[in-house]
Amino acid sequence: MANKVRVRFAPSPTGGLHLGGVRTVLYNYLFARQHGGDFVLRIEDTDQSRFVAGAEEYIVSCLQWCGLEPDESPMKGGPHAPYRQSERKADYYQYAKQLVDEGYAYYAFDTPEELERMRNEFKSESGNTAQYDQRTRMHMRNSLTMGADETAKLIEAGTPYVIRIKMPAGENLSFTDMIRGEVHFDTSLVDDKVLLKADGMPTYHLAVVVDDYLMQITHAFRGEEWLPSAPVHLLLWKYLGWGDAMPQWAHMPLILKPDGHGKLSKRDGDRLGFPVFAMNWTDPKTGETTQGFKERGFLPEAFINMLAMLGWSSGLEQEIFSLGELVEKFSIERVHKGGAKFDYEKAKWFNHQYIQKLSGEQLTPLIKPYLLEAGIQSDDSYIATVADMIKERCTLLPDFVAQGSFFFKAPEEIDMPSITDKWNGAKKTFFSSFIDALNNLSVWNVETTEQAFNDCVQQQGIKKGEVMLPLRIMLVGGKFGPGVFNIAEMIGKEQTIGRIAKVIDAV
Ligand code: GLU
Repeated sequence: MANKVRVRFAPSPTGGLHLGGVRTVLYNYLFARQHGGDFVLRIEDTDQSRFVAGAEEYIVSCLQWCGLEPDESPMKGGPHAPYRQSERKADYYQYAKQLVDEGYAYYAFDTPEELERMRNEFKSESGNTAQYDQRTRMHMRNSLTMGADETAKLIEAGTPYVIRIKMPAGENLSFTDMIRGEVHFDTSLVDDKVLLKADGMPTYHLAVVVDDYLMQITHAFRGEEWLPSAPVHLLLWKYLGWGDAMPQWAHMPLILKPDGHGKLSKRDGDRLGFPVFAMNWTDPKTGETTQGFKERGFLPEAFINMLAMLGWSSGLEQEIFSLGELVEKFSIERVHKGGAKFDYEKAKWFNHQYIQKLSGEQLTPLIKPYLLEAGIQSDDSYIATVADMIKERCTLLPDFVAQGSFFFKAPEEIDMPSITDKWNGAKKTFFSSFIDALNNLSVWNVETTEQAFNDCVQQQGIKKGEVMLPLRIMLVGGKFGPGVFNIAEMIGKEQTIGRIAKVIDAV
């Protein structure tokens, strides 16, 4: 029987969660659900110099918001706990040691100054600095050049050391990537990566192999930037004797800047005015907050749908997929090899589509925080009715404030020039008589207010078109909003009359 599918998202908790990271989570999640497998969250925090307080909790909140919850994680636990690499430190040393004992790795005692010297001394003809590799390793201070006794003495004396993999010369390695097909590497071009650092912590290269093995990971989806490291990992799987258990890899295409030139970075978001992180991220060192998709007013379902399509195509015309449909339709074979350009307008289009699917009642709890922020408090049923009336005009959740605040309070700013430009005595008379007619209404609704308006238009012999736009601006503040009599019904008699009177007094 084939092994149960097990996938993992393995972030390093170093800052905001980039949308590319969420897409990796999503593809992992879809694949796991599709195959009845497990989705593991593993925190890769072995690089203590990059540790950022709060980043792990933040990642977990992001996954929660996206609705992509792992089956096993540091918080939830699971059969392969602990899920934080810093807590698995003891496991790694024995494997690094095994590699040294079997001749696949070696101790290296070089100081930072010695490394720097080597990089310059062995520069290539074209001026590229040298790496620690088959060409340079025999000129360095390591267990290969010093022999067993001296090495043992140095270790005993507490000399700091790292353990490096000994990359073989001239081997051609290959594996089949689920997205890219056969990929080949020449081991001569790869440096002797550090596996275990001087602080006893493994590097990513050792930890990822050991943990993918111990956690019985069957498929590993990760960013394209890891492809150059694949030969090191292939060899580690082989050298540790686990070759048959190696997961199938899929290296995700990059998410590119909107113009297609290079990888999309947080800085591009800042520059072009769109979010790149899933949720707000506050850098604890600088205190600077970067806005996320959530706080910008995206619905998680729309965000997820948009990400699914960023690098994958269903082969159908359909673009809107629920998470359930994605689980059904997703196939890693249809993920593109090439990078996917991020298109913020398209992201907003998805959000608009998802907003339309929600009822006013469903939208109410989502838009309430934005209303409150704008100083607007109201009861839920009123908010729900407003939401239904204006959702068509809303793309992001804060749009409900911009598009609907006049339902809750008189507009603060009124586009007066659009009224005064064509103002005349006849219009003034019309609006005075309209106020009287409204005052006399005993039933207040769309029909009665519209009837009163039409009657006044007739009595005053004025063109409807001439007074309709001024009326809208009086009630709303500008040339937007749903049906003007629907607005009148909603805001009530007192507000309607008050807003009209205020403007005619001011012209
Ligand atoms: N810690 C790595 C990262 O954050 C994980 C890569 C992988 O999935 O193997 O990119």
